[in-house]
Amino acid sequence: MFDQLKSQPADKILALMQAFKDDPREQKIDLGVGVYKNAEGVTPVMRAIKAAEHRLWEEQQTKAYVGLAGDPAFADAMIGLILGDAVPREAVAAAATPGGTGACRQAFELIRMATPGARVFVSDPTWPNHLSILSYLGMDVVPYRYFDNETGGVDFDGMLADLRAARAGDVVLLHGCCHNPTGANLNPVEWQAVIDLLNESGLIPMIDIAYQGFGDGLEADAAATRMVASRVPECLIAASCSKNFGIYRERTGLLMAVSQDTAQRKLNQDTLAFLNRQNYSFPPDHGARLVTMILNDEALRADWMAELEDVRLSMLSLRQALADELQRLTGSDRFAFLAQHRGMFSRLGTTPDLVEKLRAEHGIYMIGDSRMNIAGLNANTVPVLARAIVDVGV
Ligand code: PMP
Repeated sequence: MFDQLKSQPADKILALMQAFKDDPREQKIDLGVGVYKNAEGVTPVMRAIKAAEHRLWEEQQTKAYVGLAGDPAFADAMIGLILGDAVPREAVAAAATPGGTGACRQAFELIRMATPGARVFVSDPTWPNHLSILSYLGMDVVPYRYFDNETGGVDFDGMLADLRAARAGDVVLLHGCCHNPTGANLNPVEWQAVIDLLNESGLIPMIDIAYQGFGDGLEADAAATRMVASRVPECLIAASCSKNFGIYRERTGLLMAVSQDTAQRKLNQDTLAFLNRQNYSFPPDHGARLVTMILNDEALRADWMAELEDVRLSMLSLRQALADELQRLTGSDRFAFLAQHRGMFSRLGTTPDLVEKLRAEHGIYMIGDSRMNIAGLNANTVPVLARAIVDVGV
């Protein structure tokens, strides 16, 4: 049996991480893997998570199974965080999942089950896991134009033109905020135009929101998701707690199915529970429980929000510093888009050859499509990166 297996393509980001580790140069800079790092290069456990873990250790009496959809209190807390009061609670079915990846996987399976012929429209580029899971599930994927290499912003006309090719029942995958890998996002007017198109063509939006609080703030980052959820008849929302709670390895996420027809909710809820059972039965609980404790406790929540805001502001100031330094070195505004981008990533918009040159000549590691993890920088490395970008002739 095993001899029938074919070797699978290596994950490019993990391969890059290994190459970085193996690089003996002291001045090397890792802008590859997508985890937040502070100025010391550490991905810390957040204070509120530590406090909640301590409390949980003292108070938890059992580790018996929870429900197939996870603890309903986790769903309630997360729906509050993401959707606020944009839709009535009765409109939302939700299930805990292993991370945002699990939420995406379950969403794709639900789409395939409900509408076997549905195509999934994805931004070009999108998070590579979207593509690999969709392809593994044998689903039809159609890319829509998204990033404009010239301006560093969104090619919005191209995006709308490509989405006009979608048919009723097709799904449009959108990043709720902090687009990965580009950092370029729609403005509210553009979101409304997308919503109008979804409604005119009978398309179903699926929103992946993995960086709430990393862009313009917790509320602002949820605004587009709320707008969509309240203005379309149905949507799917895949949320991750990995980044904004810093609990990557705890595998904490939530899939929401929102329907304005609230009579639909029970069927949706049962389907989400069914899909969890088929794939892993009960979803992980530890991270979900910590998140629930934090969101439902005034002091823990305030402390979490304060720390998350510090994380957000530190990335914004690194963006600004990099854009300023490049402006100083080049005498042009060519790189001003880096300060406009939001979230952890920015796509520089250069060729794989120059990305390789940055690695070979300067020990700067970014993904081949020129995605940089801004959190991989600090005040000392910003000028080093800026000089290298100019040096290799980006
Ligand atoms: N969606 C996007 C766009 C992401 O960038 C990520 C994290 N890399 C996720 C979902 C899910 O992450 P996780 O499974 O670690 O929660």
